[in-house]
Amino acid sequence: MKPIKNLAQYYVDLLVKLGIIKFSILLALALVALAVVIQVGITIVLNSSVSNVDIIRSVFFGLLVTPWAVYFLTVVVDQLEESRQRLTKLVAKLSDMRDRDRELNDQLHQKVEELNKQITEREKSEAARLEVMDDLKREVFEREKTQIELAERTALLRSFIDASPDLTYYRNAQGVFSGCNKAMEELTGRKEKELVGLTPWDVYSKEVAQQIVETDDKVFSNNQALTYEQWLEYPDGRKAYFELRKVPFYDKTGQHLGLVGFGRDITERKEHEDTLEKASRDKTTFISTISHELKTPLNGIVGLSRMMLESKLDKQQRHYMQTINVSAITLGNIFNDIIDMDKFDRNKLELLPKPLQFKEFVAEMESIAGLMGEQKGLRFDLERLTDLPDVIEVDATRLRQVLWNLISNAMKFTKEGGVVMSVSADVSGHLAYIQFEVEDTGIGIPDAEVDKIFAMYYQVKSGKDNLHAMGTGIGLSVSRELVNMMGGDIQVSSELGFGSTFTVSIAVPVSNETSLEVIDEQVDALNVFMVEDIELNVTVARSLLEGLGHQVTVAMTGEEALSKFEEGSFDLVLLDIQLPDMSGFDVAQQLRKRHAHLPPLVALTANVLKDKKEYFDNGMDEALSKPLSAKALKKVLAKVDSGEVGTLLSQPSLDEEASHDHFATVVDIEMLSSYIEIVGKAQVLEGVSVFEKLMPDYASILQTNLIAKDKDAIVSEAHKIKGAAGSVGLKRIQSVAQKAQSPELPAWWENIDEWVDEIRNSYQSDVEILKQWIEQA
Ligand code: ADP
Repeated sequence: MKPIKNLAQYYVDLLVKLGIIKFSILLALALVALAVVIQVGITIVLNSSVSNVDIIRSVFFGLLVTPWAVYFLTVVVDQLEESRQRLTKLVAKLSDMRDRDRELNDQLHQKVEELNKQITEREKSEAARLEVMDDLKREVFEREKTQIELAERTALLRSFIDASPDLTYYRNAQGVFSGCNKAMEELTGRKEKELVGLTPWDVYSKEVAQQIVETDDKVFSNNQALTYEQWLEYPDGRKAYFELRKVPFYDKTGQHLGLVGFGRDITERKEHEDTLEKASRDKTTFISTISHELKTPLNGIVGLSRMMLESKLDKQQRHYMQTINVSAITLGNIFNDIIDMDKFDRNKLELLPKPLQFKEFVAEMESIAGLMGEQKGLRFDLERLTDLPDVIEVDATRLRQVLWNLISNAMKFTKEGGVVMSVSADVSGHLAYIQFEVEDTGIGIPDAEVDKIFAMYYQVKSGKDNLHAMGTGIGLSVSRELVNMMGGDIQVSSELGFGSTFTVSIAVPVSNETSLEVIDEQVDALNVFMVEDIELNVTVARSLLEGLGHQVTVAMTGEEALSKFEEGSFDLVLLDIQLPDMSGFDVAQQLRKRHAHLPPLVALTANVLKDKKEYFDNGMDEALSKPLSAKALKKVLAKVDSGEVGTLLSQPSLDEEASHDHFATVVDIEMLSSYIEIVGKAQVLEGVSVFEKLMPDYASILQTNLIAKDKDAIVSEAHKIKGAAGSVGLKRIQSVAQKAQSPELPAWWENIDEWVDEIRNSYQSDVEILKQWIEQA
């Protein structure tokens, strides 16, 4: 078939090459030639000769057939050509497809190769992982083995650490907790399991965490242990001051792993340090202030008495004057102690009203203030605006203290001009409304400060002069308190740069003078036994007593007193409380033990006398304060003479009155009465016992917050205490807590220590008083 195909192709190619005309001519020639050859051949075979006719016939035949053959061949050729072209296209397409196919094949091949590679790698890593796993398992196994061996020792160590009251904890190099002991669990309020994985930021307040992280960083960067102190807070709000020690730790290769921390609660130590510091500060301020404030009046007394000693005096007058002179000097030395005591007893201020020669009192103020003004180069005038009552019932010492404070302030804050004190009185019935006005031409007080100067420890801060450094900020506060207790008030008006006016108004009973007359009554000569160890006091008392016509026998120690005393020989015993060998109370007890019949025993004390109960409880019949005043001594002698001394305790009215006052200052009687009426005693007592349970925690949290100087926390704890105290009727605690929770009060920081102390020190005794009151209600 192939030769035929090739032949056909040959024809087609020839036809295409020559064109239809040339090809037709050639075909015609070929056909003619073929017809001639065939005709000639057949004729020769049949006839053995060839005629022309045969040849012509063959030519005609050839020529006749040619067009048909040409047509037929052309059609065939066209068809063939078309097929060929289609075939060529198909072949091209096929070849394209084959190329694409090859490309895809290549890609596939590559992918397969990659896949194989990955599989190999995975197999390799899987094998490695298995190997690591095996190692790990082996290690874990080994570790477990070691752990079991060490378990006993670790447990022992752990129990040591847990038993420690000190904090112990570990943090890794990233500052994340990795372990702690029980004390630390308590501090953070989290179990060890909960703490592990947390950072200080998650556990402490922002400020605390900040300090912890900073010190951690220091330990890490310096690679050195560090000790410092810091406040930390328990979950219940209680703060404690810790001494923290942080020590870095490393692994065998020296790689830094983290730190171990230890913390010791040193709150108590801190508290004592603060108290000591404050006490020494207070002491220094007071001593310097008091010595300054005392100089003026004391110098007056010393100077004047010296002057009088140079004038003409009789023997006795000279002796008295010498005593005054020496006493004034001694007074300067002992005053520091008295002032300290006054400060600590301030919360228990009490008035002892007695008849007072008012006109004499005013004259005395006038002469001392005049003297003081003279020394400062200031004018002092006293104006009596109205008639003054002769005798009023008032605590003269306290009234003197108030006026003296106003006058000395006026002179302290005045450089030029002077001070005027005016006194007026309006007597209506049994009451005298008395007004004192102390006006100065001094520096004045800024408007914004006028209301604040009565706050404890408050002083107007002025940069120009240093006048305030001489004061303490106590005087006005105490003065206002005293005047309020007298049923009055102190007001101030002031103009900055022009001066101030302080006005004291009190309403006091006008006395019927009988009690004063008693003093001048003549008493019989008595035999007085005096036990006193200080020579000066003996001189003063002896002069006084002998001057009044009495006889004095002196013993200077307790022993001497006990041996010298003879029953029936004396009408009165004056007994100093502080003797070199024993206390006056001991002497009194011994005397009472040894003798059936004793004369009245009167205590002599250098302390400020506010409450005589302590003296009565210790076997005394009366008490007098030193230095002895003629009036007080005369009064006692008069009482002894009339047999009054020794009966004081049996006067029930005094007791009842005192006990009512005692309750009224501590408990809210009105509120409690209606409370008991509504819910009954049992319910109220139950409330009190809840209060008793809560208070120790409240008080200790308050205290730690005070030491930590955390104002907000102090305020919030004081607020709780105020609410709790108020709900059970503890009036005093409630009012102190009210002040403690009000930081807007002037000089709040200066006073808060005392308020907190007062709450802590008084709440238990106040609860006892409250219970007593409820019982007897
Ligand atoms: P101290 O005088 O010891 O500082 P006080 O309680 O007596 O304490 O007085 C409180 C403050 O009131 C004084 O520090 C002073 O700033 C102001 N003050 C009191 N009296 C006067 C006055 N007469 N003139 C100007 N300021 C006064």
